[in-house]
Amino acid sequence: EIDLPEDHPRYQSLLTRHRIEAGVDKGITSKQGLIAEGRGEAFDYLLGEQTIESADAAERAAAAQLLLAEQPVLSVNGNVAALVAPEIVDLAAAVDADIEINLFNRTPKRMEAIATHLREHGAEDVKGLTADGRIPNLSHERAKVDADGIGSADVVVVPLEDGDRAEALAAMGKTEIVIDLNPLSRSAQTAAIPIVDNIIRAVPNMTDHARDLQSADRETLEAIVDAFDGAAALSDAEAAIRAGELD
Ligand code: ATP
Ligand code: MG
Repeated sequence: EIDLPEDHPRYQSLLTRHRIEAGVDKGITSKQGLIAEGRGEAFDYLLGEQTIESADAAERAAAAQLLLAEQPVLSVNGNVAALVAPEIVDLAAAVDADIEINLFNRTPKRMEAIATHLREHGAEDVKGLTADGRIPNLSHERAKVDADGIGSADVVVVPLEDGDRAEALAAMGKTEIVIDLNPLSRSAQTAAIPIVDNIIRAVPNMTDHARDLQSADRETLEAIVDAFDGAAALSDAEAAIRAGELD
């Protein structure tokens, strides 16, 4: 890591930006990923760079949904790998999920670099390299998934996902948990559980909730999922952005 002034008011944001730059240098993150980061930063700035209450509730509902799942999968792209590799490994362990690499701009080199990066951070089994399954109604490269991963998953976490693929996955009947700072993006709108929060805060918080709910019975978990209202969470996030929660 580089030397960033910790008392800088935008410290977290600078750190995030630096991780994405390092991701590009390592061949993990695409140049498109830099643009996605910029867009995310703008929304996070407007949210006051904090986890709003409705996002925390979404993260708890997501944890409950993952614990209820038969075959949960966490989808990882170049930005996710650069920003939260160890945290994704922790979440996967807490909810017993698989990790699958899924890229918008899929190249063998980037797939390998991300797999190596995830393994360096403790991932044992990394899916996505077999690509023997397809998401219907998507063009060739973007449609590729592992048949025994996202292909057969019942619950998928898709952070920073492209709207097209989010819609196609929902059309396959998957329960989608989307992490996306833009409450107006199609990805967030498609999700069963939209989490409008920075992935840097969202993933560790989901893990905390999962640990907290580890021994809860199915009825309790189902009640948490049922009580969550995705549309209300999206309007709440939009209202927070419009109100300007900046300190
Ligand atoms: P679409 O309308 O197809 O959903 P999009 O506008 O969302 O497209 P992308 O660049 O593919 O375009 O998506 C990246 C999304 O990820 C953006 O909505 C951006 O706000 C969000 N994002 C970027 N960085 C982060 C982050 N660190 N945490 C959470 N969300 C992020
Ligand atoms: Mg999107």
